Amino acid sequence: MTTGMGKAALVCGAGGFIGSHLVRRLKNEGFWVRGVDLKFPEFADTDADDFVIGDLRDQQVCDRVIDRRFDEVYQLAADMGGAGYIFTGEHDADIMHNSATINLNVADRAHKRNIRRVFYSSSACMYPAYNQEDPDNPNCAEASAYPAAPDSEYGWEKLFSERLFLAYNRNHGMSNRVARYHNIFGPQGTWTGGKEKAPAAICRKVANVRSGDEIEIWGDGLQTRSFLYIDECLEGTIRLTRSNDFEGPVNIGSEEMVTINELVDLVADIAGKDVRKNHIPGPTGVRGRNSDNRLIEERLGWKPSQSLRHGLEQTYEWIERQVHRNTPA
Ligand code: NAD
Repeated sequence: MTTGMGKAALVCGAGGFIGSHLVRRLKNEGFWVRGVDLKFPEFADTDADDFVIGDLRDQQVCDRVIDRRFDEVYQLAADMGGAGYIFTGEHDADIMHNSATINLNVADRAHKRNIRRVFYSSSACMYPAYNQEDPDNPNCAEASAYPAAPDSEYGWEKLFSERLFLAYNRNHGMSNRVARYHNIFGPQGTWTGGKEKAPAAICRKVANVRSGDEIEIWGDGLQTRSFLYIDECLEGTIRLTRSNDFEGPVNIGSEEMVTINELVDLVADIAGKDVRKNHIPGPTGVRGRNSDNRLIEERLGWKPSQSLRHGLEQTYEWIERQVHRNTPA
């Protein structure tokens, strides 16, 4: 691919899961890429031409990294994690303060540098809890966002920041793009330590047990979700960023909805193990959530190209290797 020959991109959050994959994709397309993050990617070397270790809450750091016009800017940096991080309430102030400060800084610096377009990653967590109580029939159509009632402060911050980027479009002639990601997963994502999400946590638990053993599952496992593989997420992200006349907000997710119990069964099947489930109390989030892809299909002609199983196979293989590498023989 040579789409990016002679072009420059900035990836904020380039040390994170989606950001590090995005840097690789942009490099493959021929872009010169600058990444910025508090940390380098955890599981592989960065592919960025220039990687700045810096805190985007600091305006001076923002000035330093947004020091020129970029053809594409991706704002993925956020204080986030899985249910064990965002739904317990213990990190609410940090999540809101840290992520909002980053977004305020990046939107304003981009505008002052005459950068026309920033891609911003919002989340399905901004959808109202009252539309996600029925596990079989959640409503996550873009237009269902209001009256707003996210079930976490993480979701409220996302809602604020998507409005912020769109306000810069209206008042400062920018053409920022806003996507609402739905549970992105894949290799080289956080898989242990408390910030991991359900697919990675389940892959780790299954990799750690022998056939016939049991693993712990938060809640009754009947809550529903859909999960999108990283490569699909990058394709949707790039198409939205480069679209001529569509700013979003738009869902980037999968419509292949499963219960958490079904997700466990799928991973167990991939692993070739018989795994029993021990349901224990834990943070579970809303009862049901699924992407609604009607708008993105209509406006960008995009939908995921592969099944959930395909992505889980790649992810399980990678997590199994990490587990064995970390377990003394
Ligand atoms: P991640 O946590 O792996 O990446 C975020 C990165 O931002 C981290 O590397 C972190 O160090 C960096 N960061 C945090 N604070 C920073 C600061 N002050 N200065 C510089 N860097 C900072 O998360 P991810 O899964 O790659 O998600 C990327 C974006 O997509 C986030 O905005 C997230 O909210 C959003 N999102 C992700 C998902 C998902 O399922 N992964 C779902 C919905 C939305």
